[in-house]
This record gives sequence, C-alpha cells and structure tokens, in this order.
Amino acid sequence: MRAYLDHAATTPLLDCAREALVDALGATGNASSLHWSGRAARRRLEEARESIAEQLGVAPSEVVFTAGGTEADNLAVKGLWWGRTAARPDRRRVLASRVEHHAVLDPVHWLGAHEGAEVVWLDVDRLGRVDPAQVADELARADDVALVAVMWANNEVGTVQPIEAIAAACAHADVPLHVDAVQALGSIPVDAALPTTLAISGHKLGGPMGVGALVARRNAPLAPLTHGGGQERQVRSGTPDVPAIAGFAAAVAHVLGDLPERAARVAALRDTLLAGVTTLAPDAVVNGAQGGPDARLPGNAHVSFPGCEGDALLMLLDAAGVDVSTGSACTAGVPEPSHVLLAMGIDAVLARSSLRLTLGHSSAAADVEALLAALPAALDRARRAGQVRISARLATALDGG
Ligand code: PLP
Repeated sequence: MRAYLDHAATTPLLDCAREALVDALGATGNASSLHWSGRAARRRLEEARESIAEQLGVAPSEVVFTAGGTEADNLAVKGLWWGRTAARPDRRRVLASRVEHHAVLDPVHWLGAHEGAEVVWLDVDRLGRVDPAQVADELARADDVALVAVMWANNEVGTVQPIEAIAAACAHADVPLHVDAVQALGSIPVDAALPTTLAISGHKLGGPMGVGALVARRNAPLAPLTHGGGQERQVRSGTPDVPAIAGFAAAVAHVLGDLPERAARVAALRDTLLAGVTTLAPDAVVNGAQGGPDARLPGNAHVSFPGCEGDALLMLLDAAGVDVSTGSACTAGVPEPSHVLLAMGIDAVLARSSLRLTLGHSSAAADVEALLAALPAALDRARRAGQVRISARLATALDGG
C-alpha cells in the first residue's frame, strides 16, 4: 500500500461521487436537446447546479460549470478584464497577489503582455499573506482598476488570505474581486457570496477531474471566452459534462457536510506529521502560517530541509512508497524555485529544498507512519547527494570553470 501525501495535487474519488458519475455515464442525452432524453440530462444538470448553489449559499444561476479550476480562473481573469475594459477602456490596472496559482498568474501575465494591462503584483509577508491595506491603497490611488485577484488559500504553503477584508475593500471601490478557492473549498469555511467570482474544482475535493465551476455573481461583468451554443449563461459555450458535474455535486455536498469533523481530524494528523518530521530533522524549517483554519489549510504541511534537494527527496520517498510533492503539481519537473516561496522572502536554495506534504479525506495514521519511517534514510541520502553536488561546484569554481 502506498502512502498518499499529495491531496493538494488531487484527491481520491469519494464513493458518493463515483456512484453519481457512473450512474450518469449510463444515460444518453444532451442537456440542450428538447426530447425526453435531453430533458433527463438537463434535469440532472440543473439538480447538480441547485445542490452546489444551495451548499454555497448562492443562486443556481450564479454557478457556471467549467472543465476545472484552470478554466474557471481564466474565465474570471480574462472575462472580467474584457467585460470591464469594454465598458471603460481607461481601466487598465490589474491587482493580483504574487502567490497565485499559475491558473491565475499566467492569464494575468498574458493580459500584461497582450492587452496592455498594467499589472500591480501584491506583496506577501514571510507567511504568505496579502495585506488588505495594500489592496485598499492601490484601489484608492486611482479609479482605473479593472479587477483584483487574490486566492482564498495557497496550494503550496496552505496560507489562508484575509478575503473578508479584501472583499470589503473591493466592494467599497466597486471593483470586481476574483478569488481562487480551489484549495479552500471543502477544507475550510468559504463564503462564496463575498467575491464577484470564485473558482472551484472537482478533483481537489473528492470529485472527478476535468470539472469545476466559476461562481459568478449575477451582475459580474464577464465576457465569454468560448463562443458557440450559448450554454452556461452565454459565458461558457460547450456541451456540459453532465456525469462529471453530477459527481462534482455529490462530492461538494459530502465535503461540506462533514467539514468541521474532517478538518479537525486531518489537522490533528498533519500536526502529528509535523511533530515527527521536526523531531527526525531538527534543522527543518516549517513554512507558511501556523494556527487554525483561518490561518492555514488543515491538511497542509510545507517543510524545507537544508542541504537536501526537494526533487531528490521526492524521488527517494517515491521509491519507498510515499507520494509527496515539491510544490504545485503543475510546475513539478521544472527545477526553478517556487514563485510562492520566493515571494515570501525564502532564499532560492532553501526554496529548492522543500517538500509539500498534504493530507485529506482518505488520510490515515498509517500514511504519516510510512512517511516518518522512510524519511531518515531519504534525508541521509539526499544530504549526501547534496554534499557531492556542492563539492563538485566548489571544485569547478576552484578550477576557474
Ligand atoms: N488553483 C489552485 C489554487 C490549484 O491548486 C489548482 C490545481 O492545482 C488550480 C487552480 C487548477 O485547477 P484544475 O486542476 O482543476 O485545473
């Protein structure tokens, strides 16, 4: 049995989600067709929408289904930009935090490179937190902000942002706020009615991959990115994946139903993991905010091991049957230090020495025990490999190479 400590990358499918998905896979019908089969698919789609809306405390028409979190983020960032600049072309500033997931970071960069957006990157402190006062100051500077984007909780270090204060500043300035809640929903309380748009994803909370939603307020000035059949309020054309959406809705209901108990259980396991890791490696540095669910995601542990390469540790633990990550799964394999850790002021060498260990609904004490059993040998080998690399670099430098 492998120990799976990478719930931030993806979570095992919940039984209720699998049942809803498989049940709907057996049915034929396009939700836009007028005949009986089409109406049956439409009913399933709308029931899923109503269920998610009810769980999130928003209106069903505010739930726009997408093919995952990345698409929801792109729709929000580019859709709000085009919606806002169409109304007033002088709104050119975009405020976004430096620690966003690439699903927000890259569309914001793209707007800067191709659409003339003036991007203001919001700094974070050593724990990865945005200062709401900086958001308010930037908004007060001039009435030219097209949108603000700050994530609810970070996918690498688990830091939770002060979204309520940021949403209040945006509401005061009447500027739309996009919040990426992909990691937050199902792990901590999320008030989906606070921002203008909110991105969520199925596979991060026990649902299927390739499905998500953008919760968009009725008055959100959203321009569509896809044009076609006009599905999903005309902002997301394309035949909706009804089976995946049914599985997604079942997962959302499940994870919001048992959130407080599960979050407490997962946080206790995470604390046991951290206590064990810091005992085995007293020089380890724990990154991100510490504290309860308003500070850090309950399932997130993020640790730097001085003298070790994170990638080497990952491979050694992998060989020992333990799945961990060095950061965001989408950038794994890219040997650059994480932009999140650099934004937090962590130096590049320490940033490259980091592991992200994330727990979730299927995690058990055995997963933590497996990690703690495999870690000493992995640390030993990774440190020795690190020393060899340092000596080689030193020799090259002394040779004048
Ligand atoms: N936003 C955050 C914070 C994430 O962690 C991820 C996935 O890693 C995404 C967006 C992208 O979601 P998806 O994998 O559904 O496209």
